[in-house]
Amino acid sequence: MRPTGPPPIDWEGILERLARCYGTGDWRVPYLRDHAVDPFQVLIGTILSQRTRDANTDRAARALFERYPDAAALAAAPLGEIERRIRPVGFYRTKARNVRECARRLLAASGGRVPETLEALAALPGVGPKTANCVLVFGFGLPGVPVDTHVHRIANRLGAVRTPTPEATEAELRRTLPRVYWNPLNPLLVQHGQNLCRPRDPLCDRCPIAALCATGRARADGRPTPRPEDRRPAVPPPRRRRAKR
Ligand code: SF4
Repeated sequence: MRPTGPPPIDWEGILERLARCYGTGDWRVPYLRDHAVDPFQVLIGTILSQRTRDANTDRAARALFERYPDAAALAAAPLGEIERRIRPVGFYRTKARNVRECARRLLAASGGRVPETLEALAALPGVGPKTANCVLVFGFGLPGVPVDTHVHRIANRLGAVRTPTPEATEAELRRTLPRVYWNPLNPLLVQHGQNLCRPRDPLCDRCPIAALCATGRARADGRPTPRPEDRRPAVPPPRRRRAKR
């Protein structure tokens, strides 16, 4: 008897088509392009980037690292001065406290050296699973699965996971996604989420991976999609005009 159910996820095909669509250049946001040589700056920059637009993260990271480029400098910085420099980012007061505390703890524990394990990174203030994974991938070039809202949403739309939170998506992808795809996953899905696979109204009719995506196939066939919020036809029907009375 033939097996039934959805076809397995063709990660090779998905990532290859997305790389062709968005290019295989440097996808990193500016603060990572400029500071990725230094794991400390990747760590601090990624904390600053949480719930913040890339352009604002870049401005704040530049202003901060210009004066406080390493753990020793940042650990001794006055809080008000850190706040002033990172003001473009959201929650700058909380982040100022967190980045200085990070610097102080790293200085005390290891002379300012950033740890290379998920567990040790996630124990630092302001560092959640996504930030810890970003440091592994972008700071050290180690395998990691940074899952932000784009990766979480698209992995569910693809049918690769069925998970309620980014944390659950990360756990599921770590279990099921072949390791060779871990590091390219985040930059490509983030690009895709910002361009075609938007939070609302994904542009499935223009998507290069629609044939490999559970949502793309379902919408094309008029079937239910994996995420209830995507259960609208890919091309909405034309509006009916009201008859004149
Ligand atoms: S087909 Fe639609 S839902 Fe699937 S990845 Fe493309 S844009 Fe996103």
